[in-house]
Order: sequence, then structure tokens, then C-alpha cells
Amino acid sequence: MNIILFGPPGAGKGTQAQHIVKNYNYFQISTGDLLRNEIKQKTNLGKNIEEIISKGDFVSNDIVNILLKQSISNLKFKDKIIFDGYPRNLLQAENLKKNLFEFNQSIGAIVFLNVSRDIIEKRIIGRIICEKCNMTLNEYLDHKEIELHACGKEFLKKRKDDNFKIATSRYDTYMQKTKPVLDFYSNSAEFHQIDGSLEIQVIKGKIEQILKV
Ligand SMILES: [Zn+2]
Repeated sequence: MNIILFGPPGAGKGTQAQHIVKNYNYFQISTGDLLRNEIKQKTNLGKNIEEIISKGDFVSNDIVNILLKQSISNLKFKDKIIFDGYPRNLLQAENLKKNLFEFNQSIGAIVFLNVSRDIIEKRIIGRIICEKCNMTLNEYLDHKEIELHACGKEFLKKRKDDNFKIATSRYDTYMQKTKPVLDFYSNSAEFHQIDGSLEIQVIKGKIEQILKV
């Protein structure tokens, strides 16, 4: 089944996507990758895209749509696509549905890895790093791991600058922009919300359950 994966920065979307790609032979498709790939192949469209981007302009929905269609029509990818960072708006959501339908496919699952702003903040502010082995832990979230850390607690030091403002504003922007799309999908039977503050393994398990259906 094709999947759409949503999740704000810091929710662990990348980790989960990688897991699905590796273990279930999926193909992760993001608009950024599609654009970069087309530019690399030096097609006419690629040259056109390069020009648009170099001017600092946004690539139109139509162009994204053409590239998306190329992927969806590729039999190698059939029913094995993870859409990452797409759709970003309602128009794209409609386009996606139409394109999939045209090639006899659909979206089997829409997964929203949700994390509260509070958790995102704690993840950033609480980050500590071991000066001996470079392991990153979190003073709010990893109590057990800190107690048991082999190098000894004295090596665990707080990191000074973790770009708190940048991270929280990226989170806010994502949530704000994605809300209409999430609202659009949230009533469908294929919509699944997963608590992104759970352990990575637990989230993996929940996603595997969804894939099995
Ligand atoms: Zn250590």
C-alpha cells in the first residue's frame, strides 16, 4: 500500500521512513528529491526547474505534478511509495488522489507522527552529550540510560547552543501549514495518528501493524 507520512521536525519521521524503506522495500518520495533528481538528469524539465530555483522562485504545482506522475506510473514503485512532505496543501492532496487513481492505486495509510511542542522543547533543551563516547542523551527523557551510562555520569555535559528558536519555529511553521491537509485526511478510515513521543521501537511496531492490514 502507498503511505503518506506526516510529522513535524523532531517527531522522528525520517527514522521511521528509513525503517519502512529498508524492511518493506518501499520507495520514499519527497518533492525535494524529485526536483533534485530531475535537475541531475539534465532533462529539459530539469533545466527549467534549475532556472526557477536559481532565481529563488518556487516550483509550480504543475511541475511537481508531472514529476509525481512519473513516479506513480513507474511499475517498480507500484503500491510501495512513502510520500514524505507531500502533499503540502489541499490542491496537492487532490492531485495526488487523482494521479494514484489514474494508475489504479490509492493511499492505503496516512500516518501522522504527532509530537507536542512541549516535547519538542524538552528534546532540544534537555540534550546532553557524553564527552567520552559522544552518545547523545536527554536529561528529561532518558533517566534510566543516564543512570546506567557506562562512561559514568560525570562525562555527560549539556550542549550549549542547540538552536532552540530555529527548531521551535520550524515546528510551528510545519504544524500551521500542515493543519489544513491533516484536517482533510483526518476523517478518512486510512488516517492513523501515532504519538511521536513514544519509543522508536514502539512507533515502529505501530506502523508495522498498519502496514499489515
Ligand atoms: Zn559515554
